[in-house]
Amino acid sequence: KDANPPGYAPLCRSYEDFYARRLYHRIQDCFNRPIASAPESWIDVIERESSDNNKTLHRPFKTRRCLNLGSYNYLGFAAADEYCTPRVIESLEKYGASTCASRVDGGTTSLHVELEELVARFVGKPDAMVYGMGFATNSTTLPGLIGKGGLIISDSLNHASIIFGARSSGSKVKVFQHNSPQHLEEVLRENIAEGQPRTHRPWKKIIVVVEGIYSMEGEICRLKEIVQVCKAYKAYVYLDEAHSIGAIGKTGRGVCEHLGVDPADIDVMMGTFTKSFGSSGGYIAGSKDLIAYLKSISPGHMYATAMSPPVAQQVISAMKVIIGEDGTDRGARKLAQVRENSNYFRQELRKMGFEVLGDRDSPVMPIMLYNPAKIPAFSRECLRRNVAVVTVAFPATPLLLARARICISASHTKEDLEQALEVISEVGDLVHIKYFKH
Ligand code: PMP
Repeated sequence: KDANPPGYAPLCRSYEDFYARRLYHRIQDCFNRPIASAPESWIDVIERESSDNNKTLHRPFKTRRCLNLGSYNYLGFAAADEYCTPRVIESLEKYGASTCASRVDGGTTSLHVELEELVARFVGKPDAMVYGMGFATNSTTLPGLIGKGGLIISDSLNHASIIFGARSSGSKVKVFQHNSPQHLEEVLRENIAEGQPRTHRPWKKIIVVVEGIYSMEGEICRLKEIVQVCKAYKAYVYLDEAHSIGAIGKTGRGVCEHLGVDPADIDVMMGTFTKSFGSSGGYIAGSKDLIAYLKSISPGHMYATAMSPPVAQQVISAMKVIIGEDGTDRGARKLAQVRENSNYFRQELRKMGFEVLGDRDSPVMPIMLYNPAKIPAFSRECLRRNVAVVTVAFPATPLLLARARICISASHTKEDLEQALEVISEVGDLVHIKYFKH
């Protein structure tokens, strides 16, 4: 109310507007939970005095040690690491915490150069560039690639950063049914009458945007079929690997490696360092021409302060562990462990009768709650039993498709997983979400 003085159109639209009967107000303690530790497999969640976010936290902070099933710490690099952490500390001492300049204005350090070479090599593309934020990677790259007169065809469940970038590009945006190459082809066919004169192909260019693993679904992209369709209609492919790079594929190279797709068939490869690498920022990888072009026009590159050097060093170190350049097989073991943990956990949850989304090998596994009223019950009861879960709801999902989104890590031990299963099972009975229990 304070933000909207009388006579003015509202400046702030309340988040609560989205929900019937002020639901968000009543469940806000389930979101924005502050923690007082690194996002490892166990975290210290700060206790609140009440469920009202606007009320103060206990001071001095009282914390609750919880098993963490919410962070994207797929390979366990969120924790201090014997290879990464000393190098990150060294880079902090050498370069400081910030470049205090954009990449073009003196903010490019030797670490940025090293990281870009490493990323290109890792994903199998001729060149790469990095950004300080994953969200900004999508939202400032897409408008650089396409504008008025262009067509973006976007998967219906693509991330907000893609939607934001697509809308602000000024191009026409059309959506195809989630992960459906058939529907993608229909949309392409409607927009290109093959063999017809120029007037029937009204778009300057077409970019199809998909994700490697869908973050709210845990589903792996049907990339092979999508690439085939795009080739047939001469549409470019833009692939967001935020959740798949470093998480799937035998050597962690993401969805291309997992599905046997040649990276050469992907025109623009995007990914983030905020998941498997335990760091921050994002990348675009592609041809030398593409990267040179983006470096000359992308606002996220030209007008934003460069990625923090210790953050870059964390990615370099984690990536070297993944590819074995630290001289050990820890990377390969982490990859095998996250796969084993994910497949075990999903299978056990399904056996218990939960509706669990996502594909084999995917570390993202949403447990369907459906009714938004089940969000607080599920979340609070898990927390009471020292298990921290992330619940997602509108606007991140449709209103009646609320879910708890579990992220499994290589650093979860067998005991962690057993404890989590026991708690989730008990709470699942309490809130009646074992939809397949007979
Ligand atoms: N793309 C996808 C698919 C994502 O899930 C996310 C965020 N989780 C982003 C981009 C944005 O990345 P970041 O959080 O690193 O800014």
